[in-house]
Amino acid sequence: MSTAHALLEATMTAPAPRLTVIGTGYLGATHAICMAVLGFDVLGVDVDPAKIERLSSGEVPFFEPGLPELLAKALDSGRLRFTTSFEEAGEFGDVHFICVGTPQRKGSNAADLTYVDSAVEELATHLRRRALVVGKSTVPVGTAARLTELVQRVAPAGTEVELAWNPEFLREGYAVDDTLRPDRLVFGTDSAWAEEQLRAAFEPIITQGTPVVVTDLATAELVKVAANSFLATKISYINAMAEVCEVAGADVTGLAEALAYDDRIGGRFLKPGLGFGGGCLPKDIRAFAHRAEELGVGQAVAFLREVDGINLRRRARTVDLVRELAGGELAGARVTALGAAFKPNSDDIRDAPALDVAMTLHRLGAHVTVTDPAATENAQRAFPELTYDTDAISAAGGADVVVLLTEWSQFREIDPEAMGAVVAQRRIVDGRHALEPAEWRAAGWEYRALGRP
Ligand code: NAD
Repeated sequence: MSTAHALLEATMTAPAPRLTVIGTGYLGATHAICMAVLGFDVLGVDVDPAKIERLSSGEVPFFEPGLPELLAKALDSGRLRFTTSFEEAGEFGDVHFICVGTPQRKGSNAADLTYVDSAVEELATHLRRRALVVGKSTVPVGTAARLTELVQRVAPAGTEVELAWNPEFLREGYAVDDTLRPDRLVFGTDSAWAEEQLRAAFEPIITQGTPVVVTDLATAELVKVAANSFLATKISYINAMAEVCEVAGADVTGLAEALAYDDRIGGRFLKPGLGFGGGCLPKDIRAFAHRAEELGVGQAVAFLREVDGINLRRRARTVDLVRELAGGELAGARVTALGAAFKPNSDDIRDAPALDVAMTLHRLGAHVTVTDPAATENAQRAFPELTYDTDAISAAGGADVVVLLTEWSQFREIDPEAMGAVVAQRRIVDGRHALEPAEWRAAGWEYRALGRP
């Protein structure tokens, strides 16, 4: 028995539950790996055989700092395995975490629940003994109640199988730390038994003193979308101020700094710039607004449409700034885009503002070369019409305008002289307020940023 497992067994009053993680993407792979490192026996399940193969051979299929080392450790311990077999999962697990995707439905703002439904249904057909199914995916309120009915109808063990909701708050780029040391755990449960199973499955994390909020299923589902809506609103708030600053001749960075000293407001998520994207915030606020309308309380969160609108206008404004610097005409202009990922320390390009801007510039006739420390491959697959370069300086060769779209530290550290030596024109749009304007201007660059004079 390994040290982590022995420690876990020693601290637990009952035997540690065996865990399965259904859906091994950004969330599920991280969860499965971290739980195995904490000492649990874990089986990861996915419908994508290539992903299962890569994970089994020790390769994390996406960029996440620290995760490859933990995967190696977990595989070495013998406590982590991966499979495509739901039958194996049903036999193996006491607690089954559902971590499949809930993207935006095509042609609608609603969440697409087909992956969640099929994962839960497929798993349920193999549940022949008492077990707990725990949803971690972000879902519209009411989904858990519907899935409880589905699971108990389909599972051979019937009402012996219960369902709980445990929303996930991890941030890509910090996923390992957020999973091993979360700010809080939220357990949405219907019964004392389900709560007991969840407490057992998170015992090592709870023992660290992590706060646990125990609530009903609907509240647990809402916590996640409420949190994301708040964060999105805060970002769009400061970006709305940037819009006003732009016409008033004011500077949004000074404004944001002054607001941040008020600790009722706080500086986090109050950074003006190109706005939010990714696989969560945009689709979560849209799905929330959609669900609220279905429930007849659309007006309560109608502001989320405005939050979304402000966010999308930042992308359009960034394109405008590039056009202005290019002399009013994008057709034929050579533009270098620094960044493709939706945020630094990630290779996730889902609804990435950077690529949205790059594609708009391309459609308007610019020759766009994109560079990103981690997301170039993903971007190339999704947008083969753009040109790619793995190195920022060589990507900037001959550029009429450079535009910084994702605030990777590698881009913050670029020497304006070194880049200035290769571009055709020293003109830069800083879409993330990541650069020191004085330094770039001193090196002869025309520097523009959203919300600044
Ligand atoms: P992802 O697309 O990276 O992963 C989803 C995985 O589910 C894929 O590997 C896919 O092959 C697999 N899958 C699809 N259908 C399946 C099925 N029927 N059975 C088994 N596996 C199946 O998505 P993600 O970013 O990991 O997000 C998953 C959920 O977690 C979403 O609801 C998301 O909103 C939520 N979430 C994500 C994050 C994040 O930072 N990525 C944070 C918190 C919450």
